[in-house]
Amino acid sequence: MKVYNFSAGPAMLPEEVMLRAQKEFCDYDGSDCGIMELSHRGSQFSKVIETAEENVRELMNVSNDYSVCFIQGGASMQFCMIPMNLLPAGGVADYADTGTWSAKAIKEAKRFGQVNIVGSSKESNYDRIPVIRHWKPTPDAAYLHITSNNTVAGTQYHAFPPVPESVPLIADMSSDFMSRVVNVDDFGLIYGGAQKNLGPSGVALVIIRNDLTTRIPDSIPTMLRYDTYVNNGSMFNTPPTFAVYMLKLVTDWLKEKGGLQVIEEINDAKSDALYNLLNTSDFYRSPVDPGSRSRMNVVFRLPSEELEAKFVKDAAANGMIGLKGHRSVGGIRASIYNAMPLAGVEQLIDFMINFEKKNG
Ligand SMILES: *Cc1c(COP(=O)(O)O)cnc(C)c1O
Repeated sequence: MKVYNFSAGPAMLPEEVMLRAQKEFCDYDGSDCGIMELSHRGSQFSKVIETAEENVRELMNVSNDYSVCFIQGGASMQFCMIPMNLLPAGGVADYADTGTWSAKAIKEAKRFGQVNIVGSSKESNYDRIPVIRHWKPTPDAAYLHITSNNTVAGTQYHAFPPVPESVPLIADMSSDFMSRVVNVDDFGLIYGGAQKNLGPSGVALVIIRNDLTTRIPDSIPTMLRYDTYVNNGSMFNTPPTFAVYMLKLVTDWLKEKGGLQVIEEINDAKSDALYNLLNTSDFYRSPVDPGSRSRMNVVFRLPSEELEAKFVKDAAANGMIGLKGHRSVGGIRASIYNAMPLAGVEQLIDFMINFEKKNG
């Protein structure tokens, strides 16, 4: 039985990518050396990391005003690197509070300076993106930080907040990186852990506008400075070679699929199919405001927690795993990142209809 993995991350990878990695694990490009055994300074790995960067630039249409960096420590380390590098003494950083991950980013920023919460949906259990025209931004903020897709609550920005030219917009795109077309020029910095949409855990992809790397305080240690990664092609020290290699394969796959416009249409079709079922059902219910629903993490509730537990168990018995909601919120969460094919979503929908018939 083919198993569909609906986990939030680490998450499903495209089958073609897994098979290619399996082949190259022991023998990379006829070298008789496995990909994990290659020196990061050798010509073969250099080509891998260069191609990974080229793929990111091509897929997201990244101009030369930006650098593409591969940094260890996951998205969580970016929570501290961003204020360390970009929040000057006496400055104010603006943050939107939209859930678990943005709260963690805010907590780290507060260690380094003043934080202003421009808007929050905490009082309604993070069931929406707070209405942007009601936000209260700081006129001369060091930056504005948002979480473009909220992996736990199942919300997503469908339009990004406007910012004055002097205020860089920073986005944690961990759970919707390269799932749709975005205009990189609207951002000062975009980052995300790879393990949801781009590859395995172990690397964060960071796209940073070059002017932001010129005013980093001297006190920031070498490994935590963006300019270290920008000026050394992410090779100041040994990069996470396997994670970068996998990210290269996933971005190769995205290009073969036709790029982000095509993948966005597929992701729309997948999430529309699920939301249509939720909208028409009396059994399943979405707790998320219709205007803020995520196309990556579709969360829903059943009439009782007992039925939710049975749903997760029966789904697993039918080849669909990872559907339990985040431990902090409960319920069901279907993570349908780029690698989840439409067939997997269709199988889930068939299962949901049958489950309702038997238990509704
Ligand atoms: C998973 C996730 C993170 C944490 O990523 P790590 O790589 O584990 O640090 C941060 N932000 C968002 C939106 C996430 O989904």
